[in-house]
Amino acid sequence: MPEASPATASKPKSAPQKAMEKMGLLRDIDLALHLPLRYEDETRITPIAQAEEGETVQCEGLVTESRIELRGRRQLLVRIADDSGESLLLRFLHFYPSHQKTLGVGQRLRVRGELRGGFFGREMVHPSFRAVDEDTPLAQSLTPVYPSSASLPQAYLRKAVAAGLRRASLEELLPPGSVPPQLPPLREALNFLHHPPPQARLNTLEDHSHPAWQRLKFEELLAQQLSQLQAQRERARLKAPALRAARGGLHEKLLAALPFGLTAAQQRVGEEIAQDLARPQPMHRLLQGDVGAGKTVVAALAAAVAIDAGWQCALMAPTEILAEQHFRKLVGWLEPLGLTVAWLTGSVKGKARQKMLDAAASGEAQLVIGTHAVIEDKVRFRKLGLAIIDEQHRFGVAQRLALRKKLASQALEPHLLMMSATPIPRTLAMTYFADLDVSTIDELPPGRTPIVTKVFADGKRGNVIQKIVDEVAKGAQVYWVCPLIEESETLDLKNATETHAELSLALPGRMVGLLHGRMPPGEKAAAMSLFSGGQMSVLVATTVIEVGVDVPNASLMVIEHAERFGLSQLHQLRGRVGRGAVASVCVLLYTGPLSPTGKDRLRAMAETNDGFEIARRDLDIRGPGEFMGSRQSGAELLRFADLQEDAPLLQAARRLAPLLLDRHPQAARAQVERWLGGKAEFLKA
Ligand code: ADP
Ligand code: MG
Repeated sequence: MPEASPATASKPKSAPQKAMEKMGLLRDIDLALHLPLRYEDETRITPIAQAEEGETVQCEGLVTESRIELRGRRQLLVRIADDSGESLLLRFLHFYPSHQKTLGVGQRLRVRGELRGGFFGREMVHPSFRAVDEDTPLAQSLTPVYPSSASLPQAYLRKAVAAGLRRASLEELLPPGSVPPQLPPLREALNFLHHPPPQARLNTLEDHSHPAWQRLKFEELLAQQLSQLQAQRERARLKAPALRAARGGLHEKLLAALPFGLTAAQQRVGEEIAQDLARPQPMHRLLQGDVGAGKTVVAALAAAVAIDAGWQCALMAPTEILAEQHFRKLVGWLEPLGLTVAWLTGSVKGKARQKMLDAAASGEAQLVIGTHAVIEDKVRFRKLGLAIIDEQHRFGVAQRLALRKKLASQALEPHLLMMSATPIPRTLAMTYFADLDVSTIDELPPGRTPIVTKVFADGKRGNVIQKIVDEVAKGAQVYWVCPLIEESETLDLKNATETHAELSLALPGRMVGLLHGRMPPGEKAAAMSLFSGGQMSVLVATTVIEVGVDVPNASLMVIEHAERFGLSQLHQLRGRVGRGAVASVCVLLYTGPLSPTGKDRLRAMAETNDGFEIARRDLDIRGPGEFMGSRQSGAELLRFADLQEDAPLLQAARRLAPLLLDRHPQAARAQVERWLGGKAEFLKA
């Protein structure tokens, strides 16, 4: 239970209290761990004569003049003077009548603000101020400025944090000798960071290189490593059905029926998955492989093993189009072998839906393919043995958990196979995904011609359209991807509609289709099937085609406003071409001028087709958030530590975590609780 502060217990909550809750500042320890962004120096008084223009300073003096100026904008003007022989004008554009009294002549004021040179001499506009006596003490430490929000005043937050810091139990949890020696004890580090002494070196505080900051980062990394380790060990205690491929069974039959042989990489990852399935603990494996690497068939083979052993399998994809593609492909492979495949998405309604639900609940449907609909409450499986999630980063933690809970029996959990074309960078694999086994398909099926990527300014649009006309005349199929305008789906649509009209005009007698997110699922499916059937020459689409769509004959893709997409997203999109034997081209159109990073990004796309390399560059440019996907919703990214910069601390935390968990399990639990509180649950999914 969080230690609720007395104020939050029963009285109606004030706006600042609500704002604090929203920021996750619930427990004393949360407040103690809410660290300053920067500091203000209120520990000294600068004589007015010595203050320099542009500097933020604290001065003190007696009010010599106080009046309301009525000409122009109504304002309160207050002049103070000190022993340095200079005076300072304070200018208040917003004020209450009571201010005239507080700021009356003869009053001693301590003010803080930015000094400006004005027409009337030195002045400060809206300084912070307070009435003081000659012996009012100065602040003994730097004044912290905390991350806050509009409805949460700094003064309120400062008090709350100081109180939280006093009350929080900050006893040392880590056994002596386990913390890197240069780091101070936690309590000391926190006291220092919240209230640094006047002589503290501000730069090491603000760039987080100070040992006190290092201690905090170490603590955070340790908690994160511990929670991963705990999750791993808990999972090892869970039971799952042991699934083995039978000799002469479905697995072999499917392999024999495929129109191609597996690549060495597909065989290897297939073997890794088979070994997991054969164990009585639930698999928790990520299958990563570049776009077009052939992950689907590996998943189908795993499904065959599960089904052959008498269990059901569920396959969940993030979009209806992708789910439908899987459905067609797997039906094509599996129904000839006598299997029943059910189809469940939001658009399956009424009787058809009931039939699917019944088939899943009775076990008649051996494989259920669909979208988020698969994890709805109403969906029951009789014997779910394997859950497969395609494009896993598109799903939330809660959704993954829900899928795992679909197995009616409480004693067993299904095996979980996740697939992604966005590889996890090594640093993240070591930290956030330490609890995940990873299989990698590092080779494309043979016979693919690499995609050539070209970057053009939008001025070349006419030439690009001519190129499309030429290619279509030779029988090629073309994707034209329209930009994503986040603020406005309507604008998105307008753009796509206009391009559709433009291309229709340029290609008389050819079918030019349109596909966007707002179309009813039936129409989307119809457009997709005309395109994959080859009747449609050009498909103008918003990013709905981003994931997984597989039309081998498509050999040209144009991406408009390419500068608006992330690198990984561009790579995913580009992967829709180059799926067959024909040489493919991807044209990135940009509307300039481009920023330097914008240029770098597009250049990176033209330079490499390697998704892993692109992911590395993306990580450099954008930081790790992108890869975390839905994990962010359950547990924020590291607040203080940086995986790259703090690699030595990460190493130390990784070494300490298993020792702590084995020898001091109580301390390990307390450490996770301290840092993650209720969030730890989410890290397990
Ligand atoms: P992704 O890994 O992006 O999901 P897919 O599973 O959609 O890729 O596979 C891309 C295409 O390659 C599909 O048409 C698939 O049937 C085909 N494919 C998969 N494996 C092989 C292989 N070993 N040889 C030839 N083609 C393959
Ligand atoms: Mg795929």
